[in-house]
Amino acid sequence: MYDEGAIYRGERIVNWCPRCHSTLADYEVEHEEETGKLYWIKYGPCVLATSRPETKLGDTAVAVHPSDKRYKHLVGKELEIEGVLGKFKVMVVADRAVDVDFGSGVIKVTPAHSFIDNEIAQRHNLPSKKIINEDGRMMANCGKYAGLTTREAREAIIKDMESLGLVDHVDDNYLHTISVCYRCGTTIEPLPSKQWFVAVDKPLKRFKNKSLKTAAKEIAITGKIKFLPERFLKRYLDWMDNLHDWCISRQIWFGHQIPVWYKDEEIFVGLEAPSGNDWRQDPDTLDTWFSSGMWTFSTLGWPTNYLRNKKSDDLARFHPTQVLETGYEILTLWVSRMVMMSLFALGEIPFEKVYLHGIRCRNQRETESIRLI
Ligand SMILES: [Zn+2]
Repeated sequence: MYDEGAIYRGERIVNWCPRCHSTLADYEVEHEEETGKLYWIKYGPCVLATSRPETKLGDTAVAVHPSDKRYKHLVGKELEIEGVLGKFKVMVVADRAVDVDFGSGVIKVTPAHSFIDNEIAQRHNLPSKKIINEDGRMMANCGKYAGLTTREAREAIIKDMESLGLVDHVDDNYLHTISVCYRCGTTIEPLPSKQWFVAVDKPLKRFKNKSLKTAAKEIAITGKIKFLPERFLKRYLDWMDNLHDWCISRQIWFGHQIPVWYKDEEIFVGLEAPSGNDWRQDPDTLDTWFSSGMWTFSTLGWPTNYLRNKKSDDLARFHPTQVLETGYEILTLWVSRMVMMSLFALGEIPFEKVYLHGIRCRNQRETESIRLI
């Protein structure tokens, strides 16, 4: 996959748990309601609402909805904003992701620390400024706030903004949803991090310039794989449509250690270290769904019985299998990955029918997490 460009190493925004020091997949993030504060801050000629004023230090733009007449005259202009660390400049962009009914209809854009803002930044070619580190603390580029946790920085910055007259007002009982780590409950910090990804939208030679995602959708649309009950076809396709490049490196002990070796700026991908000294293996492990996605063929002796694109032994006899039977909650986590990995590695489907059944939960917490899936 690496040789074909289907796997790459890149700095992209990820869900990060500052306590576990690990990336989390979207489905490993839990959502909790919290009553907090909504700060209405003066931002150049606008007033805007935010629950995270500390991220102002990483703002590179403000955004409004393209149809919002109130701010039409500002779009495309550069604004000079007074901030707690002095004046700074931001562009005003018009983007459909802005909710006109939230706050004043203007949002600040912090590309390094918000998934939505990151997408806005990519559409408008905006710079990104990382201000929160992997410990959940403000970085050296945050002046006197450097070293504070995000919560400490929030209080300190609001206090300073108040003395500068930059706070319009504060709503005290603002109910909002926060993202927390499914392992430890710590608030997730979205931040840019250097990780390994599967490129799901990139045209690949193997699929005649179709992407992995398109290939995985086509076999379902054309009925090569059938879902029972049929309604799960839509769930599968919806999930594929919304799939972004898939982060497959995890900073945890359990899993396959990533078979990549580094020496200075050099990268070597292979199961064994290359000859020569000083090669260091990537300390991270592979996402469990990446590894288990290979289950349908790795259990049948692949890759030793798959030479020159020909199967032999058990692999020839039992792959693809006829029916996969599993709980429905695992459709996107596992079933979809098995489809993608089999299409890539063998050029064929892993199974013909997917029979999904219900599940019974042991307690309320499990019921809730299943409902989210
Ligand atoms: Zn955690």
